[in-house]
Parts: sequence; structure tokens; C-alpha cells
Amino acid sequence: MGDVSFQNNVPDPLLSGKELPTFKFELEKSKGKVLGNSFGKEVTAEQLPISKGIAGVSMQLEPGVMRELHWHATAAEWAFVLKGRVRTTVINPAGQGETNDFDPGDIWYFPRGHPHVLECLGNEPTHFILIFDNGYFSEFGTFSITDWIGHAPKSLLAKNFGLPESAFDGFPKQEVYFARGAIPPEQIPENLQGPRVAPPHTHKFRMLSEAPHGVFKGGREWRVDSTRFPISTTITGVILDLEPGALRELHWHPNADEWQYVIEGDVSVTMFGAHGRFRTELLHAGDVSYIPQGYGHSIENVGSEPSRILIGFNTGIYESIDLSSWIAGNPVEVLATNFNKPESLIRSFPRKDVFIAPSE
Ligand code: MN
Ligand code: MN
Repeated sequence: MGDVSFQNNVPDPLLSGKELPTFKFELEKSKGKVLGNSFGKEVTAEQLPISKGIAGVSMQLEPGVMRELHWHATAAEWAFVLKGRVRTTVINPAGQGETNDFDPGDIWYFPRGHPHVLECLGNEPTHFILIFDNGYFSEFGTFSITDWIGHAPKSLLAKNFGLPESAFDGFPKQEVYFARGAIPPEQIPENLQGPRVAPPHTHKFRMLSEAPHGVFKGGREWRVDSTRFPISTTITGVILDLEPGALRELHWHPNADEWQYVIEGDVSVTMFGAHGRFRTELLHAGDVSYIPQGYGHSIENVGSEPSRILIGFNTGIYESIDLSSWIAGNPVEVLATNFNKPESLIRSFPRKDVFIAPSE
């Protein structure tokens, strides 16, 4: 969010044309980095130029595979587990490590620069979606421990660790990225440091184990920002369920960009960009879309099955303004004049926020 003033004050050429650019990317159809049945597929500002504020990754790890120790110099990482089980270990600048096990529906958050590792737990593959609060971030350009140790002079490493140079013989010379080994033990093993000191804020939150914060005739929503998950100071996560025909109403977010990943179903996402510009994208499972901060939009389930959408925002405090709520908050007489319509029609509009409208 460091560039917010720049983003808001200088017209973005991509968004200044006669037409709105595409805001959809077929993430699961992209190739990415593959090792056996493990993969990482990413969508950054390179693949989807509009997505300057948020990048995303779909990652699958097979049993016994880990995403090696690494950090991200330019982004915090937020994740939602779709299937399987994951173990993460992350270290904070005070040297406090935390190791957590995750099930489907759980989320994690690692602040920018905090190093971590992700391991598949058990004998089923795990699949999770990662969100980064910087669209120019690349998962394939992160800082990995094998890359560093493989390129540092042995004399430097020997002095650093108080070990003979020969201790570093045979270490990987190149970035490992995915490391393959035994399935990790179910019990969290000891570390070199000895007894763990818990960090002040945990990195784990069991999002779908909680009741939804909003239930409507046409769907429901889980939402977690820093008010409930204190460490997540730069990302808010949402799971939105829409019944067939239901609509997450026209709205915008004053303080954040929005990144969407369709977990299941067929949805139509519209974007309003002022100056008469309006664009609709049809999304299916595995597709991503992106709405810049302040741009009007809506999400409709246009399929015959329920849909579930994962949504991330690059803010630790969620804000939105819904069209129904905006209208309901204005004097009837003002609305009648603005639309040049009788007050009787205005009085038939909803008196409170709709949020999710049912199909009929
Ligand atoms: Mn990472
Ligand atoms: Mn939205």
C-alpha cells in the first residue's frame, strides 16, 4: 500500500482508454512451474496487467514435497487451503518461530520479508491459493535458501556458522524450489532452537470453521480482516457463496483493490469504470479477476450450481459501499430530482443494504 497516493493521483494509462481492459485470467489453465504432480501457477501484473495491487498463485504440493525455505522481499503472503493439509513454519524478526498445521478452509498470513516453508502433510496432495499484496511480486523471483547458500563463498559460510568449509560440500548449487523427501511426521518435530516461544500474533486463522458473518437468502459470506486476525495487517480475505441466480450487489471498495478466484461455479463479474465504460467477464472454476480500488462492480452466479468465490483485498481493514445502501442514505427528494422520477418510485427502493440479492 506504499504507492497508494501514486496510484490514486496519477491516471493509469491502462485504465484511461475508451474501453476498460480485460480483468480476467484463466489461472488454472496456465502452465506455471511443475514438478511431477506439484505445481505453482502465478498471475501477476505481467499476466494480467490490470492487477497492479495484488498477485496470486495456485500451488499444489504432493505428499513428501515442500515449497522450500524462502522469503518475499516485496510482498506479504496470505493463503487459503482448498484441499489436503499443509504445515508451515515462519520466523519473525524477534527470532520466534511458529509451526502450524492447516486444513481446508484455514488461512495463513506472513508479513512481508518473514521467511517461511510450506510442507504437504499426510498422503494426499494439498492445493492452496496464495495472495500477495503487490501485483509486481513474482513467486518465481523470491529469495530461496538454497539459492543463497549455493552462491555464497564457502569461506563466508564457514565463518558465519563456525563450521569447516567442508560442511558445505554437496549443498544444492541452484534454487531447489520444490524439495522432495519423506512425508513429515504428524507430531511437529523439534527444532534446533529448543522450546518454542510463541510469537505475539499467530499466523493461522480457521476461517471456515467460524460461522459466516453474513447470511442472506441468496448466499453467505465469511470475511476476515485484521480486526479478527491481527497479524493480517495488509490483506483481508473473503469467501463468498452465491446460490444460482444470486447477485453480490453493485458496490465498490474505497480503500482497496479486489482479487477474485472462482473455487466453483460460473459467475459473471461486471466492472464500471466511469465515462460510460462497462465491462463484463464470465468466469469459471479456476479463473481469476481483478477490480481496481474504487471501481464499481458486481458478482452474479449465472450457473445452475452454487458458486464459491475466494476474494482478497490489499487492506487490513475491510471497507465497501453498496449501491442500495448509498441510495437508502440519501433524502428521497434528492433522489427524485436526480433521477427525475416521482418520490413514490423512490420510496419503493430498499431501505437498507441489500448486499446479496436472491435470484427472484
Ligand atoms: Mn511464500
Ligand atoms: Mn467487491
